[in-house]
Amino acid sequence: MEDIKKNLDMIRGEIAETAQQCGRSADDVLLVAVSKTRTPEEINVAIDAGVTDIGENKVQEIMDKFDAVKPVKWHMIGHLQTNKVKYIIDKVSMIHSVDSYKLAAEIDKRAGAKGITMDILLQVNSAQEESKFGITTAETEELIHEILENCENIRLRGLMCVAPFAEDPEDIKVYFDEVKKQYDQFAGIEHPHLDFKYLSMGMSHDFKVAIEAGSNLVRVGSAIFGARDYSKK
Ligand SMILES: *Cc1c(COP(=O)(O)O)cnc(C)c1O
Repeated sequence: MEDIKKNLDMIRGEIAETAQQCGRSADDVLLVAVSKTRTPEEINVAIDAGVTDIGENKVQEIMDKFDAVKPVKWHMIGHLQTNKVKYIIDKVSMIHSVDSYKLAAEIDKRAGAKGITMDILLQVNSAQEESKFGITTAETEELIHEILENCENIRLRGLMCVAPFAEDPEDIKVYFDEVKKQYDQFAGIEHPHLDFKYLSMGMSHDFKVAIEAGSNLVRVGSAIFGARDYSKK
């Protein structure tokens, strides 16, 4: 557990250094600590070390840990089934993984029932990998328009991308570049339900390349909490 704080210091240092090399400031990049498979105790160590934002990829894990973890912003970063939106709508501060109008409409309905506006990102699968969720860059614009026309209780805050794994992360920079280009098309627009501020790209092994490509939100798990051991679950 003492490693969590040490790892965090290291990751923060690397984020700051990379941002500065690109002429940006360290504050420009939000660190979301991804705590899937981790215990509330481990998450609280990270919060005590200054983590403000936690990411989970499963609804069940958010529900299980929510009350046991100190106050923090929760991010839903994994594939979300429509029938599970109701369990997290009043727990998370942002949903990164919106990849269909059907899901957006359900989020809109549930947010409306709670009297809140939900911040969402659209998940773009710019590499068009079959194994990954997300819309293609070509579909993004249409989905944005559909959401803006129909959803009163959603605010579109940006785009999210999970790049394919590559031994050398430089090899996948093109996929980040493509999403950044699309992000920039919407970033200046003023609209009550569209206010692009987050480009969520980069994980433990590729966050430096993602920041170089323009990411301002990185989702880092194993580099903070250590390698995940799924056999324990
Ligand atoms: C697990 C996960 C991460 C973090 O991955 P690490 O390689 O552990 O940093 C980031 N984003 C998503 C969507 C994830 O599911």
